[in-house]
Amino acid sequence: MKRYSAFAIAKEALNNHQGWKRAWAKAQPKRKYDVIVVGAGGHGLATAYYLGKNFGIRNVAILEKGWLGGGNTGRNTTIIRSNYLQDPSAAIYEKARSLYETMSQDLNYNVMFSPRGVMMLAQTEHEVRGYKRTAAANAFQGVETEFIGPARVKELCPIMNIEGPRYPVLGALWQPRGGTARHDAVAWGYARACSAMGMDIIQKCEVTGVRSEGGRVVGVDTTKGAIDCDKLAMVVAGHCSHLAEMAGFRLPVESVALQALVSEPIKPCMDVVVMANTVHGYMSQSDKGEMVIGGGTDAFNNYTQRGSFHHIEETVRALVETFPMISRLKMLRQWGGIVDVTGDRSPILSKTPIEGIFVNCGWGTGGFKAIPGSGWGMAELIAKGHSPLTDEFGLNRFTEGRFIDESVAAGVAH
Ligand SMILES: Cc1cc2nc3c(=O)[nH]c(=O)nc-3n(C[C@H](O)[C@H](O)[C@H](O)COP(=O)(O)OP(=O)(O)OC[C@H]3O[C@@H](n4cnc5c(N)ncnc54)[C@H](O)[C@@H]3O)c2cc1C
Repeated sequence: MKRYSAFAIAKEALNNHQGWKRAWAKAQPKRKYDVIVVGAGGHGLATAYYLGKNFGIRNVAILEKGWLGGGNTGRNTTIIRSNYLQDPSAAIYEKARSLYETMSQDLNYNVMFSPRGVMMLAQTEHEVRGYKRTAAANAFQGVETEFIGPARVKELCPIMNIEGPRYPVLGALWQPRGGTARHDAVAWGYARACSAMGMDIIQKCEVTGVRSEGGRVVGVDTTKGAIDCDKLAMVVAGHCSHLAEMAGFRLPVESVALQALVSEPIKPCMDVVVMANTVHGYMSQSDKGEMVIGGGTDAFNNYTQRGSFHHIEETVRALVETFPMISRLKMLRQWGGIVDVTGDRSPILSKTPIEGIFVNCGWGTGGFKAIPGSGWGMAELIAKGHSPLTDEFGLNRFTEGRFIDESVAAGVAH
């Protein structure tokens, strides 16, 4: 792998940029792999990367039905935070957030991590109590957050109207080291590092069947033929129920469309991320100047990758209350992704009823922030049979009633 550096750019500038290599190799499937990862989104690629880096397992294929990073990983609003309520959540999200801090150096790929600070507005008394409780829990968990008053909110984000007509801002849960990263770059950086370790990333290769013998996985059928494997990781977000069905088991997951939109680019006016869960909308400003706006999920199951039209209006209407200056902005683009939502709004990182098959799904509306932590834990689960990061997120929690209830922290779109 050619190292990216200022020196390499200068050298290539003198060489008419003829010396750059493909970031990742174009691979064709081999007959057999130690591990097949289905899904080249952030979670699948991170799982493969840490399998290679932390456990030396490199005979790995990552199979992607479309193009790498073309699922939710390339469709989200890139908010990174770890201010969850329950201990297992704080552990995996904070592990992920801390890995984001050094990801660019680790992958030798600029993922543009920007720890600009994330605030979740409290606009009802109920939210004030809830966020104060979360701040107290975070203090025990070693996650740096604080509850701040309205004056500090206004100081951090002057364009906000804190005296809103329906819901005045009463304070916010503030995580100063939360922020954003460039979503495509996260996928591309992991892909390049996986390819450099000799792993095969095979795009336009849809898994159409899962083969098992005597209760143990032996391989998959794909649009590029049958491929054998010792272990199989299903990391396909909104399509996880389909993959599980192919393997012969069911998942407690619903798939729904979640959408987002961006405005025309404007001069810098906001250098924090704001989430307003009561009126339901959230916003940050991209490096290009666009206001990046997230909406809600459709209220019915679907696989449209588009989202219902009325959500755009609802989201913008809600945000105009809190940010009156956006009323004169033109909206440029809108898109959707299919997110996989569990009943307790926590992910599933687990063994399955078929030996050798592992599943990583259920991240719902908020899994971008978790990519490195999830990949780290998932790789350990696959390599060693368990991981302290994933132990609590097993499928058995749904039958044993051990829910990790994050419906307040994660039941919103983000
Ligand atoms: C509009 C929107 C906004 C969001 N905002 C945020 C946010 O601000 N912060 C945050 O933390 N999270 C956010 N999320 C959630 C986040 O994007 C997801 O949780 C995360 O990207 C999931 O990553 P993944 O790798 O599991 O899935 P994906 O990136 O969807 O990757 C799964 C891949 O599997 C492939 N696949 C599916 N079926 C098959 C098959 N049969 N064979 C082969 N390949 C297959 C798909 O093509 C896809 O590329 C948002 C999501 C959306 C849609």
